[in-house]
Order: sequence, then structure tokens, then C-alpha cells
Amino acid sequence: MISRPVYLDYNATTPLEPRVAELMMRIFQTEVGNAGSISHEYGLRAKGHVEHARRQVAAVVGARRHEVVFTSGATEANNLALLGLAAHGEQSRRRHLVSTQIEHKSVLEPLAELGRRGFDVTLVPPTTGGNVEASAVADAVRDDTLLVSVMQANNETGILQPVAEIADRLEGRHVYFHVDAAQGFGKDLQPLRHERIDLISVSGHKLFGPQGIGALIARRRNRKLPPLRPLFFGGGQEFGLRPGTLPVALIAGFGLAAELAMNEADERRQSCAAFREELLAALRPLRPRIHGDPSRCLPHVVNLSFAGLDADAAIETLSPLLAASNGAACTSICSTASHVLSAMHLPIDSIEGGIRLSWGHATESLNWIGLVDDLCRKLADVETESLSR
Ligand code: PMP
Repeated sequence: MISRPVYLDYNATTPLEPRVAELMMRIFQTEVGNAGSISHEYGLRAKGHVEHARRQVAAVVGARRHEVVFTSGATEANNLALLGLAAHGEQSRRRHLVSTQIEHKSVLEPLAELGRRGFDVTLVPPTTGGNVEASAVADAVRDDTLLVSVMQANNETGILQPVAEIADRLEGRHVYFHVDAAQGFGKDLQPLRHERIDLISVSGHKLFGPQGIGALIARRRNRKLPPLRPLFFGGGQEFGLRPGTLPVALIAGFGLAAELAMNEADERRQSCAAFREELLAALRPLRPRIHGDPSRCLPHVVNLSFAGLDADAAIETLSPLLAASNGAACTSICSTASHVLSAMHLPIDSIEGGIRLSWGHATESLNWIGLVDDLCRKLADVETESLSR
């Protein structure tokens, strides 16, 4: 029997949780109904699924049901948060935005677009540990700052950013605070419950839910919603902010995935941490360089490199046994050096050799012995090659 490599690319996308798959299949196979057609029982049932999911997603961050706007994923949510606030910035003459150098492209690119439209963008650098300092973010805020946008956890390194501390520091300041929580939502629960965080982007497929669904959570502050404008225009769904027929089965699946993640967060974290220990112990003889401050890292991710091996060689060596990646799935297609590891000012061979391993609570132990032997052989070959040059 040909065995497939073990999937260790959970930060790119996670497998569907079986209970979520079951619910979605049941809805796909046995139900029909547009959540907007509420003149009959089919539509009402569909709407019931959507509103239940809205509650489940809101509960993870302590928000209210009506603060959840379903989108196609975190990319769309980030675009809606950033571009959707632009008109308000223009009207109120606040054309300054603060973010970080290590954001996902789905934040950096809308920011670049806003730069082209005349906004001034400050990108705060991270430390070599991979986290931004809350004080550096707060210090970058000016009187004309419209929005601060900082990710909860970095997708390439797993390093948690101090979003709750930033939220504390923004208390009393006249700025909106957006958090791209694609990687941390339902995993690191407490920080996102901070009421000073106005906008939260989340994604179903990083959370054992389906691909193609996510949400922007827009919290009321002083009883006012952030003044977002929609990016699309149509039938007025999602409070007029995101028109289009709602994908009921995906939304129901996302809702259940969010609820399970919240209820099972502690057990999941413990299983992930145990796997991390096992993985790092097995790789120790190969003396990997770990990128980012391990004390701030999510327990299901590690970004590392092996001396003398570039990322492609390391991934190829590992590929019969495990599926790893060299960073963000969205950027690995164009395979340029990681903007995250570069911003951390790591040595060039760490940047070129950086690979990301990410797993889940149900990932099983591996045959580490075979894998480490293969890697040892490859590293010895590389050493011999460089000595004979
Ligand atoms: N932000 C971060 C931090 C991510 O890791 C990702 C997914 N790679 C996204 C945004 C985009 O999410 P989605 O795939 O749901 O559009």
C-alpha cells in the first residue's frame, strides 16, 4: 500500500471536522431554501441555520449575533474592514493607517491600494522574536489615524501578537482597531474578547470548518457600529454590508466548527502542545533553528530551518513522509523570500531555509526515526558537497 505523507500544513487549511462534515452533508442533501425567502418554511429553516451559526460565531469572541457579517473568508473580511472604512476616513479627514510589516497579503494589499488612494500607511516592524511591540503600535497612532490593523497570530511563524495589550493602549483614542484573526480565532480565545477590538476577520477553513466561508465581526462601541461601507451592491443581505445569497450549509458548518473549537479549545491546545514537544525532540539531533520566540508561539506551528538546506531542499527531503510548506500558501506560488522572516531580520540562510510545519489536535504521532535518518543523510550530503567545492 502506498502511504501518503502526513499532512502538516494546517495553517494553510485544516481538514473538515467529521461532525461539521456530517451536518453540512445533511443540509446539502435534505434541505433547500434561500435564507432570504422567508415567506415559506423552507426559507425560514435556512434562515434558522444562518442565525444559529451567527450566534455560534459571535459567542467565540463574546460579540452579539448582529455583529457577525458572513463573507467568503478572511481575505474578503480584511478587504471589507480596510476598504470599507476608507470613505469614513476621507469624510472625517483621517487618512492615516497603522499596521505591521508581518501582516498577511490580504491586509497588506488593501493597505497598498489605500496608499494609492492617498492614505498614509505606517507599517510597524516586528522584533527578531516575530512579535510587534504593543507600545510601538500605540506610538505610531497620530491625531489623523483612522485605523490600526494587527493580526492575532502570524500565519508563517505562529507567533501571537499582543492584540489585547494594543487594545488597552487604544482606550480613549479616536481610532478603529481591526484584528485579522484568521489563524487564532477559536484557538486563543481570550484576547479577541477585548471590547476595544472593533473589527475581527475570521475564516472557516483554518478552524476545521469548510473553505469559502468566514466572517467580519463588527462590534458596537458606545452603541455605534464601525461606519463601514459595502464593497459590493445587491440584494441587501448581511445588513447591506455583503449582498449575495447566503451559502446555508457552509455557514452552518462554520458555526458548528466555531462552537466546537471554543468548547474544546483546552483539550485541542494540549494535544497540539504534546505533538510539538515530540516533533522538536525528534528533530533535535538535526539542530534546527527555530524562528520566532517559542514562548509566544501557538502550540500547533513551528517555523524552522536546517543549516545548509534551503526551503525547497528541506521540503523535498521531507516530502515522502510529511507535507510541509515554506510559508504562506497564498505566496508560496510565487516563491519570493518570506516578507515575515525578512522583517524579523533573521540571517539570510534562515530566511531562505524557513519551512513551516503546522498540525492539529488529531494529528497522530509519526515515524520520526525514518524521517530523521533521511534528513541526517541529506544534511551530510549537503556538507560533503560544500566541502568539495
Ligand atoms: N489572514 C491570515 C493571517 C491567513 O493566514 C489567511 C489564510 N492564509 C488569510 C488571512 C486569508 O484567509 P482566507 O483563506 O479565508 O481568505
